[in-house]
Amino acid sequence: MRQVMVAGNWKMNGSRDSVRQLIDGIKTGVSGVKAEVVVCPSYVFIPGVADAIAGSGIQLGAQNMCDQDAGAFTGEVSGAMLKDFGVNYVIVGHSERRSLYGETDGVTAVKYTAALRHGLKPIFCIGETLEERESGITESVIARQLDAILEAEGVASLANAVLAYEPVWAIGTGKTATPAQAQEIHAFIRNKIAGLDVGIAVGLRILYGGSMNPGNAAELIAQPDIDGGLIGGASLKADDFLTICKAGG
Ligand code: PEP
Repeated sequence: MRQVMVAGNWKMNGSRDSVRQLIDGIKTGVSGVKAEVVVCPSYVFIPGVADAIAGSGIQLGAQNMCDQDAGAFTGEVSGAMLKDFGVNYVIVGHSERRSLYGETDGVTAVKYTAALRHGLKPIFCIGETLEERESGITESVIARQLDAILEAEGVASLANAVLAYEPVWAIGTGKTATPAQAQEIHAFIRNKIAGLDVGIAVGLRILYGGSMNPGNAAELIAQPDIDGGLIGGASLKADDFLTICKAGG
């Protein structure tokens, strides 16, 4: 049985005050939640959030990391630094990194490798653009994105990772994939992994991301191959985020 996971990607939002209020609000309502709850603040807020969530069961994630371990890489943050502050998860391959910062499949693969090297669990994001969907190449795009990490680290590495299917056209747009659309792609992903290793496929958590909100989360998470959500906008309001955390039962 896969434990539902709900991860909040706070992106480049917040101030010291607003982040303190947000995490206090989440902490207040999180007891009894069965899902694994993860928050991914900006780097600068990680130390404060790490202190705030101590003992709460909430897990800490980062939104990005450097593929290198240490040295002359101005502006970068290493996996070792993240581990040092209690980070367990790191988002790799988010579509905003791919489209705005030129992260290719190759870059996502070296970051995935670096995360594993430091004992961080990648939340590896994959998903098609609207143009790709309309051209009928959704599955081949997703297969290509997955092949980058499978070729680098092998299918067994997914025992220490989570996948997030995030159709780019649904991120931050208010347009959610229908439960049937999302399930179809989640099943495609799980079947592809099962073709390599059934045991890994059965245990693998595949999150949905793209305008998930308190109103649609339960129906999405009820799909057989959807194991939770990666949440952007709705993770910035404690009540909305907690409602999604509780949506999986
Ligand atoms: C995301 O950026 O990963 C995301 C899913 O954003 P939103 O929930 O705002 O669509």
